[in-house]
Amino acid sequence: MPSDLVIVYHRQPYEEVEENGRIVRRENSSPNGIVPTLKSFFGRVGHGSWVAWKLAEDPADPNWERVVEIEDSFGRYSVSRLPLTEAQVRSFYHITSKEAFWPILHSFKERYNYDPVDWPVFREVNWAFAEAAAAEAAPGGVVWVHDYNLWLVPGYVRRLRPDVKIAFFHHTPFPSADMFNVLPWRREIVESLLACDEVGFHIPRYAANFVSVARSLFDVAVTGEEKTRPDFSADGTALAEHRVPTRIAHGSHEVLLSAFPVGVDAGYIRELADGDDTRARAAAIRDELGGCQMIISVARTDYTKGNIEQLLTFERLLERRPELRGKVRLMHVSVSANRNMTAYEEVQSEIEQITGRINGRFGSFEWQPVSLIGQAIPFRELVAYYRAADVAWITPLCDGLNLVAAEFCAARGDGEGVLVLSEFAGIAVELSEAVLTNPFSNRSMDAAIDQALAMAPVERRSRMEALRAKVARYDIRAWAAEQQRLFDSIHRPLDAAPARPASRAGGIPPRDAA
Ligand code: UDP
Repeated sequence: MPSDLVIVYHRQPYEEVEENGRIVRRENSSPNGIVPTLKSFFGRVGHGSWVAWKLAEDPADPNWERVVEIEDSFGRYSVSRLPLTEAQVRSFYHITSKEAFWPILHSFKERYNYDPVDWPVFREVNWAFAEAAAAEAAPGGVVWVHDYNLWLVPGYVRRLRPDVKIAFFHHTPFPSADMFNVLPWRREIVESLLACDEVGFHIPRYAANFVSVARSLFDVAVTGEEKTRPDFSADGTALAEHRVPTRIAHGSHEVLLSAFPVGVDAGYIRELADGDDTRARAAAIRDELGGCQMIISVARTDYTKGNIEQLLTFERLLERRPELRGKVRLMHVSVSANRNMTAYEEVQSEIEQITGRINGRFGSFEWQPVSLIGQAIPFRELVAYYRAADVAWITPLCDGLNLVAAEFCAARGDGEGVLVLSEFAGIAVELSEAVLTNPFSNRSMDAAIDQALAMAPVERRSRMEALRAKVARYDIRAWAAEQQRLFDSIHRPLDAAPARPASRAGGIPPRDAA
C-alpha cells in the first residue's frame, strides 16, 4: 500500500529475539529512544512504511519476505527489509560509516581511516535503500531519511521519485568545511543532501557548518536566516551561535534547514522516576553508598565520549583532595556498542586499565572508588541510578546531542542532583544551567567537579529547576511537532515529473550517479 510517510532508518523498528528456537519480533521494551519516537509519526498519517536492512545469508533467496506488515501499539505499518550480506554490512556500516565518516563528523581527523573504504558498496547499499523508499512512497508523500550512513539516499530518491518530499535528519554533529572536506566523496554527499527539501540538525552550529560545507563546494546562497531562540543560545559557550540559517538555494531549488534538538520522553521518565519501585530502588542504592557522594557517568564506549579524560580527572581529584577518599564513588557506565572494532577495543582497554589503577591506588576493601560497568543497564534500572546520584558527570569531547544529560534532569523529580556537562555536547546549548566544562582543559574539568561536589542546596535546586523546565519544554513531542511543521511547509508540485519505475534489477546505482 502506498505510504504517505516513509521512514528510512538503518535499524528495524522492533527487536528480534529468539523464542523456542524461532526468531520473533517484539516491540522495543522502552518507549524512550528514537525508534519509538519515529514510529509515533505513523499515527499521524494514513499509512506509513519503514525501510531498514536485515542480515541475509543469501540476498537472492526467492523466499525472502521483503515487505512485512506490522501491527503494534503504534498502529499498522509496513517494514521493507533490505537483505544485506555480512560483507555489505561490514563495508557500508562498520568501515565507511564508522571508520571514515564518524571520526570526521566528530572532528577526530587523526582517526579517519580512508584505505579500507569500498565506495561502490556504499553507493550500492544506499541505492537499495532509495529504491525501497521509492517503491513505498505515495505520490507527493514524505520520505524521511536518517543519519550519515544513508547520505546518498536523498539524491537517489530524487532521481526515482521527483514528486516526493524528501527530508533528512542528522543525529550527529555536522563539522565545518575544514573538517568535512577531508572526505574525498564530499561533492557527491553534499549534492545528495542538496536534493532534499529539508535538512535537519540538532543545533544551530551544525546547520551553520553545513552551510559552510555546501558553499565551499557549490554555488549556494543563504536565503533565510533568523536569530537563534534564546533557549538555545547559551551565550559565550563553545557551540553557541547567535543566528541560524533556515533556508538555502542551490540553483532554482530551495532547501529548508532546521536546528532543533531531539528531546527525551520527559513525562514517561518523570513517571518512571517518581514510581514507588524506582524510589525504593534508589533508596536501596543510597543505603549501599554508606554516606558517600555518588557521581554517575553513562556513555557508549567511544573515543568521542571522553571516558579516559574523565577517569583521569577523577584520579586527579583523589590525588588533589585526600579528604575525599572514602567519601565519593564514581559509577562509570561505558557500554561497548561496537565490539570487534579496534578503535573501540583500544578505548575499552584503556578505560579498564585506568580504573584498575585508580582502584588499586586509592581503594580499600570497604571502599572502591570506581565501579566500571560494561553491560548495558536496562533503562528502568538506569533511572533509579539517575535518581540516586548526587552528580551526573557527562563530559564528551564531541557529541551530537547527549540524551543521558536530559534523562538525568527528567528523572530528578525531587529537584536534587547536579549536572556537569561538556560544552562540546550539542545539548549544552539548551542545558546551559548545568555546570559547563571544557574536557580539553584539566583546570576546567577539575574546577567543575569541585564545584559540583560542593554546591550549596539552594543553587543546586535552582539550577535543576531551570534544567527540568527546559527538558520538559523541548521534549520529544516538541521535536516531533517541529518536524511535522517542517514537512507541512514543504511544497512540491505533484506533477514535478513522472516517477521512474522504482525497481531496477540488481540494485546498482545509475552510472551517472558517480
Ligand atoms: N543507555 C541505557 N543503558 C545504558 C547506557 C545507555 O539505556 O547502560 C541509553 C541512555 O539512557 C540513552 C542512550 O542509551 O537513552 C544513549 O544516548 P546518548 O544520546 O546519550 O548517546 P549515543 O549513544 O546516542 O551517542
